[in-house]
Amino acid sequence: MIRKVLGLVPDRFAHLIPRLFAAILAQALCQAVAYLLLFPVLEALFDGELGRAWAWTLGMLVAVAGVVVFGYLQAAIGLRVGVGMQHGLQTRLGDHLNGLPLGWFETRDAGPLSRLMVENVREVQGLIAYLIAKVLTGIIVPLGVAVGMLFIDWRISLAMLLAAPVLYLVNGLAAGAYTRADKQMHAAAGEADSRVIEFAQAQPVLRAFGAVGRGNRALDDALAGQRAAGLRMIIASVPGLIVFALFVQAVFLVLVYVAVGQVTGGAISASAAIALITVSSRFIEPLNQAAQLGNALRSAAAAADRITELLAEPVLAEVDTAVHPGAPSVVFDNVSFGYRPGEPVVSEVTFSVPAGTTTAIVGPSGSGKTTVLRLAARFYDADSGRVAVGEHDVREQPSATLLNQLSLVFQKVYLFDRSVAENIRIGKPEASDAELRAAVEAARVDEIVERMPDGLETRVGEGGVALSGGERQRVSIARALLKDAPIVLLDEATSALDPHSEAVVVRGIHELTRDKTVIVVAHRLATIAHADQILFLEAGRIVERGTHEELLARDGRYAAFWNERSRAAGWRLEAATV
Ligand code: ADP
Repeated sequence: MIRKVLGLVPDRFAHLIPRLFAAILAQALCQAVAYLLLFPVLEALFDGELGRAWAWTLGMLVAVAGVVVFGYLQAAIGLRVGVGMQHGLQTRLGDHLNGLPLGWFETRDAGPLSRLMVENVREVQGLIAYLIAKVLTGIIVPLGVAVGMLFIDWRISLAMLLAAPVLYLVNGLAAGAYTRADKQMHAAAGEADSRVIEFAQAQPVLRAFGAVGRGNRALDDALAGQRAAGLRMIIASVPGLIVFALFVQAVFLVLVYVAVGQVTGGAISASAAIALITVSSRFIEPLNQAAQLGNALRSAAAAADRITELLAEPVLAEVDTAVHPGAPSVVFDNVSFGYRPGEPVVSEVTFSVPAGTTTAIVGPSGSGKTTVLRLAARFYDADSGRVAVGEHDVREQPSATLLNQLSLVFQKVYLFDRSVAENIRIGKPEASDAELRAAVEAARVDEIVERMPDGLETRVGEGGVALSGGERQRVSIARALLKDAPIVLLDEATSALDPHSEAVVVRGIHELTRDKTVIVVAHRLATIAHADQILFLEAGRIVERGTHEELLARDGRYAAFWNERSRAAGWRLEAATV
Protein backbone atom coordinates (compact mmCIF):
# COMPACT_ATOMS: atom_id res chain seq x y z
CA MET A 1 0.00 0.00 0.00
CA ILE A 2 2.73 2.44 1.01
CA ARG A 3 4.62 1.46 -2.13
CA LYS A 4 1.62 2.36 -4.28
CA VAL A 5 1.40 5.79 -2.69
CA LEU A 6 5.13 6.30 -3.04
CA GLY A 7 4.77 5.41 -6.72
CA LEU A 8 2.65 8.55 -7.04
CA VAL A 9 5.37 10.82 -5.62
CA PRO A 10 6.78 12.99 -8.41
CA ASP A 11 10.38 12.17 -9.33
CA ARG A 12 11.78 15.48 -8.20
CA PHE A 13 10.61 14.80 -4.64
CA ALA A 14 11.62 11.15 -4.58
CA HIS A 15 14.98 11.93 -2.93
CA LEU A 16 13.13 13.46 0.05
CA ILE A 17 11.29 10.24 0.86
CA PRO A 18 14.24 8.47 2.59
CA ARG A 19 14.79 11.67 4.60
CA LEU A 20 11.14 11.73 5.55
CA PHE A 21 11.29 8.16 6.81
CA ALA A 22 14.60 8.83 8.61
CA ALA A 23 13.06 11.83 10.39
CA ILE A 24 9.97 9.84 11.33
CA LEU A 25 12.11 7.00 12.66
CA ALA A 26 14.39 9.36 14.61
CA GLN A 27 11.45 11.20 16.12
CA ALA A 28 9.70 7.99 17.13
CA LEU A 29 12.87 6.55 18.69
CA CYS A 30 13.46 9.76 20.69
CA GLN A 31 9.85 9.52 21.83
CA ALA A 32 10.32 5.90 22.91
CA VAL A 33 13.52 6.78 24.78
CA ALA A 34 11.77 9.71 26.51
CA TYR A 35 9.00 7.36 27.64
CA LEU A 36 11.46 4.71 28.81
CA LEU A 37 13.47 7.26 30.82
CA LEU A 38 10.34 7.82 32.89
CA PHE A 39 11.23 4.56 34.60
CA PRO A 40 14.62 5.54 36.09
CA VAL A 41 13.30 9.04 36.87
CA LEU A 42 10.33 7.65 38.81
CA GLU A 43 12.45 4.97 40.43
CA ALA A 44 15.00 7.55 41.63
CA LEU A 45 12.22 9.80 42.91
CA PHE A 46 10.61 6.91 44.82
CA ASP A 47 13.99 6.08 46.30
CA GLY A 48 14.39 9.71 47.35
CA GLU A 49 17.53 10.15 45.25
CA LEU A 50 16.90 13.60 43.84
CA GLY A 51 20.34 13.94 42.26
CA ARG A 52 19.92 10.76 40.23
CA ALA A 53 16.37 11.81 39.29
CA TRP A 54 17.71 15.09 37.95
CA ALA A 55 20.37 13.37 35.90
CA TRP A 56 17.80 11.10 34.27
CA THR A 57 15.43 14.04 33.77
CA LEU A 58 18.17 15.82 31.88
CA GLY A 59 18.51 12.77 29.64
CA MET A 60 14.79 12.81 29.15
CA LEU A 61 14.92 16.48 28.18
CA VAL A 62 17.55 15.68 25.54
CA ALA A 63 15.25 12.98 24.13
CA VAL A 64 12.30 15.41 24.13
CA ALA A 65 14.46 17.97 22.32
CA GLY A 66 15.10 15.25 19.73
CA VAL A 67 11.35 14.69 19.42
CA VAL A 68 10.83 18.40 18.75
CA VAL A 69 13.69 18.78 16.26
CA PHE A 70 12.96 15.60 14.29
CA GLY A 71 9.23 16.32 14.54
CA TYR A 72 9.80 19.68 12.93
CA LEU A 73 11.99 18.16 10.21
CA GLN A 74 9.50 15.43 9.55
CA ALA A 75 6.60 17.88 9.30
CA ALA A 76 8.54 20.23 7.04
CA ILE A 77 9.62 17.47 4.65
CA GLY A 78 6.17 15.85 4.74
CA LEU A 79 4.45 19.10 3.88
CA ARG A 80 6.90 19.90 1.13
CA VAL A 81 6.49 16.49 -0.50
CA GLY A 82 2.73 16.55 0.10
CA VAL A 83 2.15 19.93 -1.49
CA GLY A 84 4.52 19.15 -4.37
CA MET A 85 2.76 15.85 -4.79
CA GLN A 86 -0.67 17.46 -4.97
CA HIS A 87 0.48 19.78 -7.70
CA GLY A 88 2.50 17.08 -9.47
CA LEU A 89 -0.35 14.57 -9.35
CA GLN A 90 -2.94 16.99 -10.63
CA THR A 91 -0.64 17.93 -13.50
CA ARG A 92 0.09 14.28 -14.21
CA LEU A 93 -3.59 13.37 -14.12
CA GLY A 94 -4.32 16.34 -16.37
CA ASP A 95 -1.65 15.23 -18.84
CA HIS A 96 -2.96 11.70 -18.72
CA LEU A 97 -6.52 12.85 -19.35
CA ASN A 98 -5.16 14.79 -22.33
CA GLY A 99 -3.81 11.57 -23.78
CA LEU A 100 -6.97 9.51 -23.28
CA PRO A 101 -9.15 8.89 -26.31
CA LEU A 102 -11.80 11.62 -26.57
CA GLY A 103 -14.38 8.88 -26.48
CA TRP A 104 -13.34 7.99 -22.94
CA PHE A 105 -14.95 11.18 -21.66
CA GLU A 106 -18.24 10.59 -23.41
CA THR A 107 -19.13 7.74 -21.12
CA ARG A 108 -17.84 9.29 -17.90
CA ASP A 109 -19.77 11.42 -15.47
CA ALA A 110 -18.14 14.57 -14.20
CA GLY A 111 -18.80 13.76 -10.51
CA PRO A 112 -16.35 10.92 -9.82
CA LEU A 113 -13.67 12.53 -11.98
CA SER A 114 -13.81 15.84 -10.14
CA ARG A 115 -13.84 13.97 -6.83
CA LEU A 116 -10.76 12.09 -7.93
CA MET A 117 -8.90 15.16 -9.15
CA VAL A 118 -9.62 17.20 -6.04
CA GLU A 119 -10.56 15.12 -3.02
CA ASN A 120 -8.67 11.93 -3.66
CA VAL A 121 -5.53 13.83 -4.56
CA ARG A 122 -5.91 15.78 -1.31
CA GLU A 123 -6.28 12.55 0.65
CA VAL A 124 -3.10 11.13 -0.86
CA GLN A 125 -1.33 14.39 -0.16
CA GLY A 126 -2.49 14.24 3.48
CA LEU A 127 -1.20 10.70 3.70
CA ILE A 128 2.31 11.79 2.80
CA ALA A 129 2.15 15.14 4.59
CA TYR A 130 1.24 13.87 8.06
CA LEU A 131 -0.77 10.67 8.20
CA ILE A 132 2.12 8.37 7.43
CA ALA A 133 4.21 9.98 10.19
CA LYS A 134 1.45 9.62 12.75
CA VAL A 135 0.76 6.01 11.91
CA LEU A 136 4.42 5.00 11.78
CA THR A 137 5.06 6.82 15.06
CA GLY A 138 2.12 4.94 16.54
CA ILE A 139 3.82 1.67 15.61
CA ILE A 140 7.50 2.47 16.18
CA VAL A 141 7.07 4.14 19.59
CA PRO A 142 5.37 1.14 21.26
CA LEU A 143 7.80 -1.26 19.62
CA GLY A 144 10.70 0.90 20.79
CA VAL A 145 9.25 0.97 24.31
CA ALA A 146 8.76 -2.81 24.26
CA VAL A 147 12.33 -3.48 23.09
CA GLY A 148 13.79 -0.90 25.50
CA MET A 149 11.88 -2.59 28.31
CA LEU A 150 14.16 -5.60 27.82
CA PHE A 151 16.82 -3.64 29.71
CA ILE A 152 14.42 -2.79 32.54
CA ASP A 153 12.21 -5.86 32.97
CA TRP A 154 12.23 -8.68 30.45
CA ARG A 155 8.87 -10.12 31.54
CA ILE A 156 6.95 -6.93 30.83
CA SER A 157 8.91 -6.55 27.61
CA LEU A 158 7.93 -10.09 26.57
CA ALA A 159 4.26 -9.41 27.37
CA MET A 160 4.38 -6.26 25.25
CA LEU A 161 6.10 -7.97 22.33
CA LEU A 162 3.56 -10.82 22.42
CA ALA A 163 0.65 -8.37 22.52
CA ALA A 164 1.81 -6.48 19.41
CA PRO A 165 1.00 -9.18 16.78
CA VAL A 166 -2.36 -9.89 18.45
CA LEU A 167 -3.31 -6.22 18.23
CA TYR A 168 -2.08 -6.11 14.67
CA LEU A 169 -4.29 -9.06 13.74
CA VAL A 170 -7.39 -7.59 15.40
CA ASN A 171 -6.83 -4.33 13.59
CA GLY A 172 -6.39 -6.14 10.27
CA LEU A 173 -9.69 -8.00 10.73
CA ALA A 174 -11.50 -4.73 11.34
CA ALA A 175 -9.89 -3.25 8.24
CA GLY A 176 -11.52 -5.60 5.72
CA ALA A 177 -15.04 -4.46 6.50
CA TYR A 178 -14.00 -0.84 6.43
CA THR A 179 -12.28 -1.09 3.04
CA ARG A 180 -15.38 -2.66 1.49
CA ALA A 181 -17.63 0.00 2.98
CA ASP A 182 -15.26 2.74 1.80
CA LYS A 183 -15.51 1.45 -1.78
CA GLN A 184 -19.30 1.56 -1.64
CA MET A 185 -19.17 4.97 -0.04
CA HIS A 186 -16.99 6.32 -2.83
CA ALA A 187 -19.24 4.93 -5.54
CA ALA A 188 -22.32 6.38 -3.84
CA ALA A 189 -20.67 9.76 -3.33
CA GLY A 190 -19.60 9.87 -7.00
CA GLU A 191 -23.12 9.01 -8.09
CA ALA A 192 -24.55 11.74 -5.85
CA ASP A 193 -22.05 14.28 -7.21
CA SER A 194 -23.06 13.45 -10.77
CA ARG A 195 -26.74 13.68 -9.97
CA VAL A 196 -26.27 17.07 -8.31
CA ILE A 197 -24.44 18.38 -11.39
CA GLU A 198 -27.06 16.86 -13.67
CA PHE A 199 -29.88 18.17 -11.49
CA ALA A 200 -28.54 21.71 -11.79
CA GLN A 201 -27.88 21.47 -15.51
CA ALA A 202 -31.11 19.75 -16.39
CA GLN A 203 -33.43 22.17 -14.58
CA PRO A 204 -34.77 23.76 -17.79
CA VAL A 205 -35.58 20.37 -19.32
CA LEU A 206 -37.13 19.05 -16.12
CA ARG A 207 -39.31 22.11 -15.74
CA ALA A 208 -40.26 22.34 -19.39
CA PHE A 209 -41.48 18.76 -19.33
CA GLY A 210 -43.10 19.05 -15.92
CA ALA A 211 -40.72 16.38 -14.70
CA VAL A 212 -39.26 18.19 -11.73
CA GLY A 213 -40.48 15.44 -9.42
CA ARG A 214 -38.73 12.82 -11.50
CA GLY A 215 -35.47 14.80 -11.52
CA ASN A 216 -35.78 15.26 -7.77
CA ARG A 217 -36.28 11.57 -7.35
CA ALA A 218 -33.04 10.68 -9.12
CA LEU A 219 -31.21 13.16 -6.92
CA ASP A 220 -33.05 12.03 -3.79
CA ASP A 221 -32.23 8.41 -4.57
CA ALA A 222 -28.58 9.23 -5.08
CA LEU A 223 -28.41 11.26 -1.86
CA ALA A 224 -30.24 8.54 0.04
CA GLY A 225 -27.78 6.05 -1.42
CA GLN A 226 -24.91 8.19 -0.20
CA ARG A 227 -26.42 8.48 3.28
CA ALA A 228 -26.95 4.73 3.44
CA ALA A 229 -23.39 4.07 2.29
CA GLY A 230 -22.09 6.56 4.87
CA LEU A 231 -24.06 4.81 7.56
CA ARG A 232 -22.77 1.43 6.42
CA MET A 233 -19.25 2.79 6.60
CA ILE A 234 -19.75 4.00 10.16
CA ILE A 235 -21.37 0.70 11.12
CA ALA A 236 -18.53 -1.20 9.49
CA SER A 237 -15.83 0.80 11.24
CA VAL A 238 -17.32 1.12 14.73
CA PRO A 239 -17.14 -2.55 15.79
CA GLY A 240 -13.53 -2.70 14.68
CA LEU A 241 -12.63 0.37 16.70
CA ILE A 242 -14.48 -0.86 19.78
CA VAL A 243 -13.01 -4.34 19.65
CA PHE A 244 -9.57 -2.89 19.12
CA ALA A 245 -9.96 -0.47 22.04
CA LEU A 246 -11.11 -3.37 24.24
CA PHE A 247 -8.08 -5.41 23.23
CA VAL A 248 -5.79 -2.51 24.00
CA GLN A 249 -7.32 -2.16 27.47
CA ALA A 250 -7.00 -5.90 28.00
CA VAL A 251 -3.32 -5.75 27.07
CA PHE A 252 -2.84 -2.91 29.54
CA LEU A 253 -4.52 -4.98 32.26
CA VAL A 254 -2.22 -7.90 31.49
CA LEU A 255 0.79 -5.59 31.83
CA VAL A 256 -0.50 -4.31 35.17
CA TYR A 257 -0.99 -7.89 36.35
CA VAL A 258 2.50 -8.87 35.29
CA ALA A 259 3.99 -5.87 37.11
CA VAL A 260 1.96 -6.38 40.28
CA GLY A 261 2.62 -10.13 40.15
CA GLN A 262 6.33 -9.42 40.25
CA VAL A 263 5.94 -7.25 43.31
CA THR A 264 4.14 -10.01 45.19
CA GLY A 265 6.73 -12.49 43.94
CA GLY A 266 9.37 -10.21 45.41
CA ALA A 267 11.12 -9.69 42.09
CA ILE A 268 10.71 -5.91 42.06
CA SER A 269 9.75 -3.22 44.54
CA ALA A 270 6.28 -1.62 44.59
CA SER A 271 7.77 1.67 43.45
CA ALA A 272 9.38 -0.04 40.46
CA ALA A 273 6.00 -1.60 39.64
CA ILE A 274 4.31 1.80 39.64
CA ALA A 275 7.04 3.15 37.39
CA LEU A 276 6.60 0.14 35.09
CA ILE A 277 2.83 0.61 34.89
CA THR A 278 3.30 4.29 34.05
CA VAL A 279 5.66 3.41 31.21
CA SER A 280 3.27 0.66 30.06
CA SER A 281 0.47 3.19 29.67
CA ARG A 282 2.79 5.01 27.28
CA PHE A 283 3.10 1.81 25.29
CA ILE A 284 -0.68 1.65 24.84
CA GLU A 285 -1.45 5.25 23.94
CA PRO A 286 0.21 5.50 20.51
CA LEU A 287 -1.19 2.10 19.52
CA ASN A 288 -4.72 3.39 20.04
CA GLN A 289 -3.93 6.47 18.05
CA ALA A 290 -2.46 4.43 15.19
CA ALA A 291 -5.59 2.27 15.05
CA GLN A 292 -7.86 5.27 14.89
CA LEU A 293 -5.83 6.71 12.05
CA GLY A 294 -5.92 3.31 10.37
CA ASN A 295 -9.28 4.08 8.76
CA ALA A 296 -8.07 7.41 7.41
CA LEU A 297 -5.03 5.57 6.14
CA ARG A 298 -7.13 2.95 4.38
CA SER A 299 -9.34 5.62 2.88
CA ALA A 300 -6.25 7.41 1.55
CA ALA A 301 -4.92 4.11 0.22
CA ALA A 302 -8.21 3.56 -1.62
CA ALA A 303 -7.87 7.08 -3.05
CA ALA A 304 -4.36 6.19 -4.21
CA ASP A 305 -5.82 3.06 -5.83
CA ARG A 306 -8.34 5.07 -7.79
CA ILE A 307 -5.67 7.51 -8.94
CA THR A 308 -3.38 4.66 -9.97
CA GLU A 309 -6.28 3.07 -11.85
CA LEU A 310 -6.97 6.23 -13.80
CA LEU A 311 -3.28 6.61 -14.59
CA ALA A 312 -3.34 3.04 -15.91
CA GLU A 313 -6.16 3.78 -18.39
CA PRO A 314 -4.54 3.26 -21.77
CA VAL A 315 -3.83 6.49 -23.61
CA LEU A 316 -4.00 6.72 -27.37
CA ALA A 317 -0.70 5.67 -28.86
CA GLU A 318 0.86 8.97 -29.87
CA VAL A 319 3.54 9.44 -32.47
CA ASP A 320 5.73 12.45 -32.04
CA THR A 321 7.32 12.48 -35.47
CA ALA A 322 6.10 15.53 -37.35
CA VAL A 323 3.80 14.78 -40.26
CA HIS A 324 2.89 17.18 -43.03
CA PRO A 325 -0.73 16.66 -43.88
CA GLY A 326 -1.44 16.17 -47.58
CA ALA A 327 -4.65 17.14 -49.36
CA PRO A 328 -7.57 17.40 -46.92
CA SER A 329 -9.25 14.12 -47.74
CA VAL A 330 -10.75 11.47 -45.47
CA VAL A 331 -10.52 7.79 -46.25
CA PHE A 332 -12.07 4.86 -44.37
CA ASP A 333 -10.61 1.55 -45.43
CA ASN A 334 -12.49 -1.52 -44.23
CA VAL A 335 -13.07 -0.03 -40.79
CA SER A 336 -14.79 -1.99 -38.04
CA PHE A 337 -15.35 -0.77 -34.53
CA GLY A 338 -17.43 -1.49 -31.44
CA TYR A 339 -17.65 0.28 -28.08
CA ARG A 340 -17.61 -3.11 -26.40
CA PRO A 341 -15.73 -6.20 -27.54
CA GLY A 342 -17.86 -8.48 -29.69
CA GLU A 343 -20.51 -5.83 -30.33
CA PRO A 344 -19.58 -4.14 -33.61
CA VAL A 345 -21.28 -0.79 -34.20
CA VAL A 346 -19.50 -0.07 -37.48
CA SER A 347 -18.57 -2.96 -39.79
CA GLU A 348 -16.27 -3.04 -42.81
CA VAL A 349 -16.93 0.57 -43.68
CA THR A 350 -15.03 1.78 -46.74
CA PHE A 351 -15.43 5.19 -48.34
CA SER A 352 -13.39 8.08 -49.51
CA VAL A 353 -14.11 11.79 -49.23
CA PRO A 354 -11.92 13.62 -51.78
CA ALA A 355 -10.68 17.07 -50.82
CA GLY A 356 -13.28 19.79 -51.23
CA THR A 357 -16.29 17.47 -51.49
CA THR A 358 -19.21 16.79 -49.19
CA THR A 359 -20.28 13.36 -48.01
CA ALA A 360 -23.59 13.00 -46.24
CA ILE A 361 -24.18 10.05 -43.94
CA VAL A 362 -27.80 9.08 -43.54
CA GLY A 363 -29.60 6.14 -42.05
CA PRO A 364 -31.84 5.13 -39.19
CA SER A 365 -31.10 6.24 -35.67
CA GLY A 366 -28.51 4.03 -34.01
CA SER A 367 -27.02 2.87 -37.31
CA GLY A 368 -23.57 4.21 -36.41
CA LYS A 369 -23.49 7.58 -38.20
CA THR A 370 -22.12 9.57 -35.29
CA THR A 371 -19.65 6.80 -34.56
CA VAL A 372 -18.18 7.23 -38.06
CA LEU A 373 -17.59 10.93 -37.32
CA ARG A 374 -15.97 10.05 -33.99
CA LEU A 375 -13.65 7.58 -35.68
CA ALA A 376 -12.59 10.23 -38.21
CA ALA A 377 -11.68 12.55 -35.31
CA ARG A 378 -9.99 9.63 -33.48
CA PHE A 379 -12.27 9.74 -30.46
CA TYR A 380 -11.58 6.02 -30.62
CA ASP A 381 -9.24 3.85 -32.63
CA ALA A 382 -10.80 1.41 -35.07
CA ASP A 383 -10.66 -2.27 -34.08
CA SER A 384 -9.58 -3.13 -37.60
CA GLY A 385 -9.07 -1.30 -40.85
CA ARG A 386 -7.61 2.13 -41.34
CA VAL A 387 -8.80 5.71 -41.11
CA ALA A 388 -6.74 8.32 -42.96
CA VAL A 389 -7.12 12.07 -42.70
CA GLY A 390 -4.98 14.41 -44.81
CA GLU A 391 -3.43 11.38 -46.55
CA HIS A 392 -2.00 9.95 -43.33
CA ASP A 393 -3.30 7.24 -41.04
CA VAL A 394 -4.83 8.99 -38.00
CA ARG A 395 -2.66 6.79 -35.76
CA GLU A 396 0.49 7.91 -37.53
CA GLN A 397 0.14 11.61 -36.93
CA PRO A 398 0.35 13.56 -33.68
CA SER A 399 -3.15 14.26 -32.41
CA ALA A 400 -2.47 18.01 -32.61
CA THR A 401 -1.74 17.61 -36.33
CA LEU A 402 -4.92 15.61 -36.83
CA LEU A 403 -7.14 17.98 -34.87
CA ASN A 404 -5.64 21.01 -36.62
CA GLN A 405 -7.09 19.73 -39.87
CA LEU A 406 -10.53 19.28 -38.38
CA SER A 407 -13.38 21.50 -37.33
CA LEU A 408 -15.86 19.61 -35.20
CA VAL A 409 -19.42 20.82 -34.94
CA PHE A 410 -21.10 18.16 -32.87
CA GLN A 411 -24.48 18.13 -31.21
CA LYS A 412 -23.10 18.44 -27.72
CA VAL A 413 -21.59 21.91 -27.54
CA TYR A 414 -19.45 22.55 -24.54
CA LEU A 415 -18.91 26.15 -23.56
CA PHE A 416 -16.44 27.15 -20.85
CA ASP A 417 -17.47 29.57 -18.17
CA ARG A 418 -15.53 32.36 -19.81
CA SER A 419 -16.49 35.19 -22.14
CA VAL A 420 -18.20 34.47 -25.43
CA ALA A 421 -15.12 35.83 -27.22
CA GLU A 422 -12.80 33.48 -25.34
CA ASN A 423 -15.07 30.56 -26.13
CA ILE A 424 -14.83 31.33 -29.81
CA ARG A 425 -11.10 31.96 -29.67
CA ILE A 426 -10.55 28.38 -28.48
CA GLY A 427 -10.77 27.60 -32.20
CA LYS A 428 -7.72 29.76 -32.87
CA PRO A 429 -6.19 31.53 -29.85
CA GLU A 430 -3.89 33.68 -31.98
CA ALA A 431 -6.71 35.04 -34.17
CA SER A 432 -6.81 38.80 -34.71
CA ASP A 433 -9.77 40.88 -33.58
CA ALA A 434 -10.82 41.32 -37.20
CA GLU A 435 -10.86 37.56 -37.76
CA LEU A 436 -12.88 37.10 -34.58
CA ARG A 437 -15.36 39.75 -35.69
CA ALA A 438 -15.75 38.09 -39.11
CA ALA A 439 -16.51 34.69 -37.51
CA VAL A 440 -18.90 36.30 -35.04
CA GLU A 441 -20.80 38.00 -37.83
CA ALA A 442 -20.88 35.01 -40.15
CA ALA A 443 -22.35 32.79 -37.38
CA ARG A 444 -24.64 35.64 -36.29
CA VAL A 445 -23.29 35.53 -32.78
CA ASP A 446 -23.36 39.34 -32.93
CA GLU A 447 -27.14 39.08 -32.80
CA ILE A 448 -26.88 37.09 -29.56
CA VAL A 449 -24.33 39.24 -27.76
CA GLU A 450 -26.10 42.48 -28.67
CA ARG A 451 -28.47 42.01 -25.78
CA MET A 452 -25.79 40.90 -23.33
CA PRO A 453 -24.45 43.40 -20.80
CA ASP A 454 -20.81 43.19 -21.86
CA GLY A 455 -21.32 42.11 -25.46
CA LEU A 456 -18.71 39.60 -26.59
CA GLU A 457 -16.96 39.88 -23.25
CA THR A 458 -19.99 38.57 -21.33
CA ARG A 459 -19.27 35.37 -19.46
CA VAL A 460 -21.40 32.37 -20.25
CA GLY A 461 -22.22 30.13 -17.29
CA GLU A 462 -20.44 26.82 -16.84
CA GLY A 463 -21.51 24.49 -19.64
CA GLY A 464 -23.01 27.45 -21.50
CA VAL A 465 -26.26 27.33 -19.55
CA ALA A 466 -26.91 31.03 -20.11
CA LEU A 467 -27.37 30.39 -23.84
CA SER A 468 -30.13 28.56 -25.65
CA GLY A 469 -29.39 25.44 -27.69
CA GLY A 470 -29.45 27.34 -30.97
CA GLU A 471 -27.25 30.08 -29.54
CA ARG A 472 -24.71 27.58 -28.32
CA GLN A 473 -24.62 26.01 -31.72
CA ARG A 474 -23.97 29.40 -33.23
CA VAL A 475 -21.07 29.96 -30.86
CA SER A 476 -19.72 26.55 -31.80
CA ILE A 477 -20.05 27.38 -35.50
CA ALA A 478 -18.22 30.68 -34.93
CA ARG A 479 -15.51 28.69 -33.17
CA ALA A 480 -15.18 26.40 -36.18
CA LEU A 481 -15.32 29.30 -38.64
CA LEU A 482 -12.51 31.05 -36.82
CA LYS A 483 -10.45 27.88 -36.78
CA ASP A 484 -11.00 27.58 -40.53
CA ALA A 485 -9.76 23.98 -40.70
CA PRO A 486 -9.89 22.35 -44.14
CA ILE A 487 -12.05 19.41 -43.04
CA VAL A 488 -15.40 19.86 -41.31
CA LEU A 489 -17.04 17.06 -39.33
CA LEU A 490 -20.59 18.06 -38.75
CA ASP A 491 -23.37 16.44 -36.79
CA GLU A 492 -26.34 18.29 -38.09
CA ALA A 493 -29.09 18.85 -35.57
CA THR A 494 -31.44 21.55 -36.53
CA SER A 495 -34.64 19.85 -35.51
CA ALA A 496 -34.86 21.34 -32.02
CA LEU A 497 -34.39 24.94 -33.17
CA ASP A 498 -36.95 27.63 -33.78
CA PRO A 499 -37.25 28.67 -37.45
CA HIS A 500 -35.15 31.81 -37.05
CA SER A 501 -32.32 30.02 -35.22
CA GLU A 502 -32.45 27.22 -37.74
CA ALA A 503 -32.14 29.60 -40.66
CA VAL A 504 -29.21 31.33 -38.98
CA VAL A 505 -27.49 28.06 -38.09
CA VAL A 506 -27.97 26.75 -41.62
CA ARG A 507 -26.45 29.91 -43.05
CA GLY A 508 -23.52 29.68 -40.63
CA ILE A 509 -22.93 26.06 -41.55
CA HIS A 510 -23.13 26.92 -45.24
CA GLU A 511 -20.44 29.54 -44.66
CA LEU A 512 -18.36 27.10 -42.63
CA THR A 513 -18.48 24.30 -45.18
CA ARG A 514 -17.89 26.33 -48.32
CA ASP A 515 -14.87 24.97 -50.24
CA LYS A 516 -14.18 22.53 -47.42
CA THR A 517 -14.03 18.78 -47.21
CA VAL A 518 -17.17 17.86 -45.30
CA ILE A 519 -18.58 14.77 -43.66
CA VAL A 520 -22.00 15.51 -42.34
CA VAL A 521 -24.42 13.34 -40.40
CA ALA A 522 -27.31 14.87 -42.25
CA HIS A 523 -30.89 15.36 -41.17
CA ARG A 524 -31.93 18.26 -43.37
CA LEU A 525 -33.11 17.10 -46.73
CA ALA A 526 -31.42 20.03 -48.50
CA THR A 527 -28.05 19.04 -47.07
CA ILE A 528 -28.52 15.45 -48.15
CA ALA A 529 -29.72 16.27 -51.66
CA HIS A 530 -26.79 18.56 -52.37
CA ALA A 531 -24.04 16.25 -51.12
CA ASP A 532 -21.49 14.95 -53.62
CA GLN A 533 -21.85 11.52 -52.13
CA ILE A 534 -24.44 9.96 -49.85
CA LEU A 535 -23.69 6.94 -47.68
CA PHE A 536 -26.73 5.08 -46.44
CA LEU A 537 -25.86 3.31 -43.23
CA GLU A 538 -27.80 0.47 -41.71
CA ALA A 539 -26.70 -1.48 -38.64
CA GLY A 540 -23.17 -0.17 -39.06
CA ARG A 541 -22.80 -1.11 -42.72
CA ILE A 542 -22.95 1.04 -45.82
CA VAL A 543 -25.81 -0.54 -47.71
CA GLU A 544 -26.10 2.06 -50.49
CA ARG A 545 -23.91 4.85 -51.80
CA GLY A 546 -24.04 7.42 -54.59
CA THR A 547 -25.50 10.81 -55.41
CA HIS A 548 -29.06 11.74 -54.59
CA GLU A 549 -30.19 11.14 -58.17
CA GLU A 550 -28.39 7.82 -58.48
CA LEU A 551 -29.86 6.56 -55.26
CA LEU A 552 -33.38 7.71 -56.05
CA ALA A 553 -33.08 5.96 -59.42
CA ARG A 554 -32.00 2.77 -57.67
CA ASP A 555 -35.26 2.88 -55.73
CA GLY A 556 -33.81 1.03 -52.76
CA ARG A 557 -33.42 1.77 -49.05
CA TYR A 558 -32.38 5.37 -49.61
CA ALA A 559 -35.26 6.11 -51.95
CA ALA A 560 -37.72 4.73 -49.40
CA PHE A 561 -36.10 6.79 -46.65
CA TRP A 562 -36.15 9.90 -48.83
CA ASN A 563 -39.77 9.55 -49.87
CA GLU A 564 -40.90 9.02 -46.34
CA ARG A 565 -38.94 11.97 -45.02
CA SER A 566 -39.90 14.37 -47.76
CA ARG A 567 -43.57 13.42 -47.43
CA ALA A 568 -43.34 14.10 -43.71
CA ALA A 569 -41.64 17.42 -44.30
CA GLY A 570 -43.82 18.41 -47.26
CA TRP A 571 -40.58 19.07 -49.02
CA ARG A 572 -39.73 19.25 -52.69
CA LEU A 573 -36.24 19.29 -54.12
CA GLU A 574 -36.95 22.31 -56.31
CA ALA A 575 -37.70 24.37 -53.23
CA ALA A 576 -34.46 23.54 -51.58
CA THR A 577 -32.22 26.44 -50.83
CA VAL A 578 -29.10 25.63 -48.97
P1 ADP B 1 -26.41 7.19 -34.95
O1 ADP B 1 -25.55 8.41 -34.98
O2 ADP B 1 -26.59 6.58 -36.29
O3 ADP B 1 -27.72 7.43 -34.28
P2 ADP B 1 -24.47 6.17 -33.12
O4 ADP B 1 -23.19 6.12 -33.85
O5 ADP B 1 -24.68 7.31 -32.20
O6 ADP B 1 -25.68 6.06 -34.12
O7 ADP B 1 -24.64 4.84 -32.27
C1 ADP B 1 -24.55 3.57 -32.82
C2 ADP B 1 -24.69 2.52 -31.73
O8 ADP B 1 -23.62 2.63 -30.81
C3 ADP B 1 -25.95 2.70 -30.91
O9 ADP B 1 -26.45 1.40 -30.66
C4 ADP B 1 -25.50 3.36 -29.66
O10 ADP B 1 -26.31 2.95 -28.58
C5 ADP B 1 -24.08 2.82 -29.50
N1 ADP B 1 -23.23 3.84 -28.85
C6 ADP B 1 -23.07 5.11 -29.25
N2 ADP B 1 -22.17 5.76 -28.47
C7 ADP B 1 -21.76 4.86 -27.54
C8 ADP B 1 -20.82 4.91 -26.46
N3 ADP B 1 -20.12 6.01 -26.17
N4 ADP B 1 -20.66 3.80 -25.72
C9 ADP B 1 -21.35 2.67 -26.01
N5 ADP B 1 -22.22 2.56 -27.01
C10 ADP B 1 -22.43 3.63 -27.79
